[in-house]
Amino acid sequence: MNTQALQADDPKEYAPELTQETAKAWDSVKDQLKLELGDATYSSWIAPIKLLGLLNNQLCIAVSTRFLRDWIVTHYQQRIFELFQKSSTSTTEVVVLIQADSHTPMQASNENHEEGLQGSTLAKSIDDVETELDVSLDKRFTFDNFVIGKSNELAYAAARRVAEQENVSFNPLFLYGGVGLGKTHLMHAIAWHIITNQPWRKILYLSAEKFMYRFIQALRRKDTMAFKEQFRSVDVLMIDDVQFIAGKDSTQEEFFHTFNALVDQNRQVIISADKSPSDLEGMEDRLKSRLGWGLVADIHPTNYELRLGILQSKSEKFKVSIDDRVLEFLAHKITSNIRELEGALNRLAAHASLVSREIDIEMTRDVLQDLIRANDRHLTIEDIQKSVAEHYNIRISDLHSVRRSRSIARPRQVAMYLAKQLTERSFPEIGRKFGGRDHTTVLHAVRKVEELCEEDKEFADDLDILKKSLQV
Ligand code: ADP
Ligand code: MG
Repeated sequence: MNTQALQADDPKEYAPELTQETAKAWDSVKDQLKLELGDATYSSWIAPIKLLGLLNNQLCIAVSTRFLRDWIVTHYQQRIFELFQKSSTSTTEVVVLIQADSHTPMQASNENHEEGLQGSTLAKSIDDVETELDVSLDKRFTFDNFVIGKSNELAYAAARRVAEQENVSFNPLFLYGGVGLGKTHLMHAIAWHIITNQPWRKILYLSAEKFMYRFIQALRRKDTMAFKEQFRSVDVLMIDDVQFIAGKDSTQEEFFHTFNALVDQNRQVIISADKSPSDLEGMEDRLKSRLGWGLVADIHPTNYELRLGILQSKSEKFKVSIDDRVLEFLAHKITSNIRELEGALNRLAAHASLVSREIDIEMTRDVLQDLIRANDRHLTIEDIQKSVAEHYNIRISDLHSVRRSRSIARPRQVAMYLAKQLTERSFPEIGRKFGGRDHTTVLHAVRKVEELCEEDKEFADDLDILKKSLQV
C-alpha cells in the first residue's frame, strides 16, 4: 500500500476535501463495522476516528496517537478500505493519520464510568495505591519452597512449564482455586524464575484490583494511551485474582483489549482467579471464553498428606523443634487452607519460644483453640455423597436415581447410613436428599448396612476407611 505521499503528522497540510457524499459513505462504513465488531470494540477503536476527507482518491482519516494509528492500520485499515470502496469505487486506499486533537476512545467513554471516578474515598485510595504500585515479589514464594501434592501438581507443572519455556506454549495460563491454596505463590514463583533465567523478558505482575486502579487513574489523568502502551509492551503479564473485576464493566473491557493485544502478539499471559473461567460471575461471556482458551489448571483443597508435608517443610525453618505428632495433629485439624495452616504453625512456634517449653499436643490445643474450632468441619450430605460416589466409582447422580442394581443400590445405602451417622439430619431430610425417597427407605438402608457390618468383615473394614476419610 502506498502511504508515502501522506506520511505526515499534520494532515492539515494536505487539505483533503470533505464532501457530504464522502461523509455519508464514511457513516455507512462505520455502521457496517459496528455490526461486524460489536459495540465495545467499535467504541474503542472506530468511533474515535475522525474523517478528514478525500485527497487524490485516498480516504484520509485521523486518530489522536501513534498507538491508535498503528492499531487501526494493523487491524482495521483493510476492512475500512473494502467497505469504503463499495460506495466510492474510485478510492485507491485508506490513509490513517495522527492528529493530536482527535478524541480518544477511553476519554470519550470516561464520562459514564460506573467504576466511579466520583467520590473522594476512591480518589484517595487511587493515590494511596499509586505509591505502592511497584509490586514487590515475596522472596519466599519460589518453586523451591512450594510443596507438591496431588491437589496442586497440575498447577505446579503448568506454572513450571510456563516459567521455563521462552516460547509461549499455552496462552493464557489460568490458575484457579480457593483462597490460601497457593495461587499467588505460584505466580511469584514463575516471576522469580523468569527474572533469574531470562532477565531480558519484561514481566508485569499485579492484582486485578491494581489493574483497575491504574486504569481509573489513567482515565482521570487522560492518559489512557500511556496506560495501554505500558501494558502492551510487556513479554509476560500476570494478573492475580481476576475475579475482582467481575461486574466492573469498563475495566473488564479494557482488560479484554489488553489481553487480546498481548495474546495476538504471542506474549505470555498468566491469570489467577478463585473460580474457573466459566464460573466467574459478572464477567462478560466473551472474556470468560477467552480466558479458557489456553491451559486451565485448578488447585484443589489440600489433603492430609500435603498439609503434613507443608508443615514439615515449614517447621524445619524454625529454631524450636516441633514433635511429629503435633504436626500430624495440626494436619488433621486445620483443613481450611494453607495460609491458616502456616498461621497456626507460626503462632505455635511463637508461643513455644515465649514460654520456652516443648510444644506438645495439649499446648497446641490450648494455643490454637479458636482455629481448631473454626476448622471443625460440618460435614454435609453432599460431602458424603461425593465421597461415596468416588469410593465406589459411580456418579453422584446414581445416588439420586431410581436404579436398583446392586452396584448402585449398595453404595446408596452406605451413603444414607453415613448421612445418618455423621450428620444431624433426620430420616426424612436424608430421604429428600436422595432423589426424594421416603424416610422408611433410609431407615431400611441404615439397618441393612448395620447387618452387613456384622456379617461381612471386609465390608465393615471398607466402610471404616470411608468413614475415616470423611472425618479428617
Ligand atoms: P492464594 O493466592 O491461592 O490465596 P497464596 O499463594 O497466598 O494463596 O498462599 C497462602 C500461603 O500458603 C502462602 O504463604 C504460601 O506460601 C503458602 N502455600 C500455599 N501453597 C503452598 C505449597 N504448596 N507449599 C508451600 N507453601 C504453600
Ligand atoms: Mg492470592
